[in-house]
Amino acid sequence: MSTHSLLLLPGDGIGVEIMAEVERIIGFLNGRTNGPKFETTSDLVGGAAYDAHGVSITEEAMAKAVAADAIIFGAVGGPKWDSVPYEHRPEAGLLRLRKDLDLFANLRPAICYPALADASSLKRELVEGLDILILRELTGGTYFGEPKEIVTLENGEKRAVDTTLYSTGEIDRIVRMGFDLARKRQNKVHMAAKWNVMRSGVLWRDVTGAVHKSYAPDVEYHEILADNCAMQLIRQPKQFDVVVTDNLFGDILSDEAAMMTGSLGMLPSASLGGVDETTGKRRALYEPVHGSAPDIAGKGLANPIAMIASFAMALRYSFDLSREADMVEGAIAKVLEQGLRTGDIMQAGMTKVGTKEMGDAILKELEATSA
Ligand code: NAD
Repeated sequence: MSTHSLLLLPGDGIGVEIMAEVERIIGFLNGRTNGPKFETTSDLVGGAAYDAHGVSITEEAMAKAVAADAIIFGAVGGPKWDSVPYEHRPEAGLLRLRKDLDLFANLRPAICYPALADASSLKRELVEGLDILILRELTGGTYFGEPKEIVTLENGEKRAVDTTLYSTGEIDRIVRMGFDLARKRQNKVHMAAKWNVMRSGVLWRDVTGAVHKSYAPDVEYHEILADNCAMQLIRQPKQFDVVVTDNLFGDILSDEAAMMTGSLGMLPSASLGGVDETTGKRRALYEPVHGSAPDIAGKGLANPIAMIASFAMALRYSFDLSREADMVEGAIAKVLEQGLRTGDIMQAGMTKVGTKEMGDAILKELEATSA
């Protein structure tokens, strides 16, 4: 059985606490006699890296990221670093990883565990059994396009510019991945863009339509304006299977989808790149959707499930270990059925637990499954 290498980047705030729970699960998997083995190395990113090294990620950590089979990332940021220079802000470390490793596809599943259907802000019948995937383009568009600047005009006013840039190839590779993923799910893709007011939206519609015709005519395909998509997600979320969209709209729509599952603390994600020609491996980073939650950091209150479920996605997508991924996801579902809840998903009549107790319970279920 081969050994898989993981780079752990806990980052800031609750990132550190929830990564500790993933390390315990890795320890459990490594302790099994016949299972796959994982070799881990850790480093700093975000504000923690800035405090130690004056940058949001060091070249040494970048080299480790390139060498690893997969990166498991916690969260970065917090008010402590609000005034650091823009190029060294904590988020710059994550953006650099995404950009340098060319992690162009962000997979954000929104799955509603039956035990949590009542914790959603939507009615149970709208979310029970929900299983949608927001596929967000991650390396192009408004967050990276140049010019990106604030200039002072002659009259003393300031003018800010962000540029939304997309090329045919950037759109082609992500929508192709969307059709591939849909074929393994409910065979349906919605492409969300603003072709009514944005030239980049026109190109998204043209390219996706052409890819559908030539590459995936077997997949049900719909075009939807991004603002309508935001409304439909609230009105009738189960109409969606895979939603493929650009970086900016994907950022917003995936956070909206997050709320349907009850809490940001439940949502994992995967960021995938192309397949490396020499190693044959797909570059990949796994992280919870939520941020560093400075309001609860260091208190042992954070929900570790999104982080643990992100690791389960690594098992599935980077290492083809669907049995182990099912085990981890099954253990999460079981502890929820038992009524254990962190504060963010607490409901009347349930048992409130902290980060470590939730990790303990998931580990106990894993041990019971493999006994
Ligand atoms: P956040 O996701 O950190 O928190 C939003 C709310 O959800 C908070 O009330 C928080 O307590 C709660 N929450 C989030 N995760 C939780 C968990 N696992 N368990 C329990 N409750 C949880 O978003 P924010 O407050 O807007 O941002 C805080 C910092 O995180 C900012 O510096 C922001 O830039 C950064 N951020 C980083 C990432 C990332 O690293 N990928 C993503 C989003 C925000």
